[in-house]
Parts: sequence; structure tokens; C-alpha cells
Amino acid sequence: MALCREYDALLSKTAEGSDVWRINNSGGNPVPVSCETMEILKKAREISEASGGAFNIAVGAAAALWRFTDGSAALPDADELAGAVSMSDYTNIYLGENVAAAAPGIKIDLGGIAKGYIADRIADYLKGRGVDSALINLGGNIVTVGAKRGGAPWSIGLQTPGGRHGVDFWAVVSSADGAVVTSGIYERGFALNGEWYHHILDPRTGYPVQNGLETVTICTKSSLLADALATACFVLGAEKGMELALRYGVHAIFRKHGGALDITKGLEIGFLKENG
Ligand code: ADP
Ligand code: MG
Repeated sequence: MALCREYDALLSKTAEGSDVWRINNSGGNPVPVSCETMEILKKAREISEASGGAFNIAVGAAAALWRFTDGSAALPDADELAGAVSMSDYTNIYLGENVAAAAPGIKIDLGGIAKGYIADRIADYLKGRGVDSALINLGGNIVTVGAKRGGAPWSIGLQTPGGRHGVDFWAVVSSADGAVVTSGIYERGFALNGEWYHHILDPRTGYPVQNGLETVTICTKSSLLADALATACFVLGAEKGMELALRYGVHAIFRKHGGALDITKGLEIGFLKENG
């Protein structure tokens, strides 16, 4: 928990004085950042390029207008949102040796990648302390250290969209020394006039992605990569998202509204009777 607090103080866009806060509030001037922050910013840029901008940590200005995090989420003003979208070009983020800068108006938001990084670091911390069997759950971001006691791999349940939290699962995948990360529309959002507005945004419009997907799950060694790819693949949609997953050699599960699935070959998945 102390590690989580430490990384939050480094990576949160709202924690005054964090690396991200300082980049966002320096008027475009380069600021020194920790090597941890730099590692995440570099991986974010790589995934932004690999996904043709579907993954974009410069969505911060648009994301802030939706106010998903403080419980007061509401439809933003369309003009304001368009203004925020014009301030979301990730190529306007500059990464130097150990300094970073963003053009004035750009707001970096690591919500789509930071949890993955932190989960990896917690796993490293535990391994460094001699722990050889553990499961870390940062909410949709699972990392396993070793296997279960007795040697069987951990069983990771995939939450039924709209089901009871931590109770209803529609499938199970196995994991030992790996990451299982899900991005979905059901954890954070609000309903208005029969539409469901959620927190994964199309950087080109600033509006929640509506492409028929309900969840994307990525399974691979690095949870940093899995987190970024889960968000990227969600925004890209089932077809292009699958191409990206294959390019990175990760396992992926695309679940559409109504339950239709696209799954990479070779991933073992156990299906459960849906009860959510
Ligand atoms: P979760 O937070 O549920 O694990 P994600 O990893 O998909 O889900 O991250 C969603 C968060 O990422 C949003 O709350 C926002 O902070 C940020 N975000 C939204 N849209 C994008 C995008 N297109 N690219 C990168 N980050 C995004
Ligand atoms: Mg993510």
C-alpha cells in the first residue's frame, strides 16, 4: 500500500507536485521527472504510435471534462469538448534524457497505463522479499507471482459486465508469473437518455468509444504492456485491436455486447454459466 501511495504521488494528474502534475502545469517548460515516470511515458508513446493514436495519454483535458473520477460525471459541453480534443496531440509531448514537457494546454493522463506499471513494481517488490506465490489485484489489473501453493496456476475470473462485483464471472483464465488486464465499459460510467457513457475515450472526438465492445482482456508477462494494450485494443475495436494484439504477441479476449467473442489462438479459457 505504501508503494501504491508513492506511485500515486508521482503519477497522478491531480496530486499537486506529482511528476505528471508538474508537466501539465509548467506552461510548456521541461521539468525533471523520475526514471519511473519516464519509463511509463516512453511506453505510452510507443503504444500511441503502434495504435495510430488510439491510445493517447494526452486525452487528459477531454477526460477531465467528463468528471468520471469524482462521482459528478455529466455530459460535457460539446464546444468545450472540441476545444479539449484540439489539445490532445500526443506528439506535442516532449521526452528528453530525464526531463519531459507538454505543449501548453496538453494534459497528460496516465489512467490507461499507470496501474499496470504499479502492479509490476509491487510484484518485483514481493519477489525481492522472497515471496514466490502471490496475486496482486489493482482492480481489473491482475498480476500473479509464481503459481498457487501446490503448483497449480492461479485462476483469474473475468467479471460479468453489469454483474455483481467480485461475485459474477463469465470466464476463467490461468496465470502464473503473468498479467491479466481488462479494460471495460462497465466499471466507470453513467447512463443518460438510454446511452451509457464510460471512461474510455476516442481521442479524435473526446466521446466514449462506441464500437460494440464491452471488454478487452490482455494476458502477457508485463502488466504495463497489458494495461496499455487493453485500452489501445478497446479503442481500436475488435478487428484492428486483434491485429495489434497479434503484432505484440499477447493473448487477447474481445467481448462484444451480447457476448460474442474474438480470442487469440492458443489461449485456454474456461467458460462459466453467466449469472450477472
Ligand atoms: P481502467 O482504469 O478501468 O483499468 P483503462 O486502463 O482502459 O481502464 O483506462 C481508462 C483510463 O485511461 C480513463 O479513465 C482515462 O484516464 C484514460 N483514457 C481514456 N481514454 C484513453 C485513451 N484513448 N488512451 C489512453 N488513455 C485513455
Ligand atoms: Mg489500460
